[in-house]
Amino acid sequence: MTRVAVNGPAGRMGQTVIETAADRDDVEVVVGFDVDGPDEVQGVPVVDAADAADALAEYDADVAVDFTVPEATLSLAEACTEAGVGMVVGTTGFDEDGFARLDDAAEDVPLLKATNFARGVHALLRAISEALPAVPEYDLELMETHHNGKIDAPSGTAKTMLETVQEERDVEPVYGREGHAPRDEDEIGVFARRAGDIRGEHELIAAGNDEVLSLSHHAEDRSVFAAGALDAAVWIENQDPGRYDFGNVIDQ
Ligand code: NAD
Repeated sequence: MTRVAVNGPAGRMGQTVIETAADRDDVEVVVGFDVDGPDEVQGVPVVDAADAADALAEYDADVAVDFTVPEATLSLAEACTEAGVGMVVGTTGFDEDGFARLDDAAEDVPLLKATNFARGVHALLRAISEALPAVPEYDLELMETHHNGKIDAPSGTAKTMLETVQEERDVEPVYGREGHAPRDEDEIGVFARRAGDIRGEHELIAAGNDEVLSLSHHAEDRSVFAAGALDAAVWIENQDPGRYDFGNVIDQ
């Protein structure tokens, strides 16, 4: 049984992680951390995030799972380093300094970060790498759609898709188009839509003159991300310090 601490337990993903864990017998959520949250979420006690290092020890947590905002993740990383507890990070929107600080934490504890914990998205990334060499001249365009509460744009998953594309093709992103905006052959348009409570949709199209290849993924429920993050929590509990990604869990 992996004992999990959840950062941001009252958030959309935090609540879903707690719900999803309740249906599993390999994980138990023992504590949550928030800055201004309720005292408990679904029976899980919530402690002030400033006291996370002590609480990780007090509640004997094995792994911390984080779906919050970058500054909260980085503060949790310090607590996990102090307590010697591994981290699973789902939060997106880090800048270069944020990535460097996660790398620093990973020198002391195992840290697994993924912009998307859906297994289907991982398969989508592999499909992109496989497909692009077959359509070398085709125009590429990338679009993502999320709920109206999402803060960062484009999504972390769209950025990961873009990086995957750029491993195969030398293309420069153009974020939206307006006015006189003819397409350059070496560009990839990247578009972010925000509406309703859409869980997450991503699509890459590769278009030639007579055909369009579409590689896409739709998440139908947040539990798909929670399930992947909890799989990652179980996996990382026994790993050495270092940076890991969701592919390590899928390929185990
Ligand atoms: P949300 O706004 O619903 O929840 C964020 C929570 O973080 C809130 O409850 C807030 O109170 C809490 N929080 C803020 N500051 C905090 C702090 N200092 N310490 C502890 N908690 C703090 O957001 P959400 O929709 O749950 O998404 C959270 C993040 O997860 C986003 O970056 C989103 O892009 C990402 N996400 C990733 C995946 C994935 O598979 N990797 C899937 C969905 C969402």
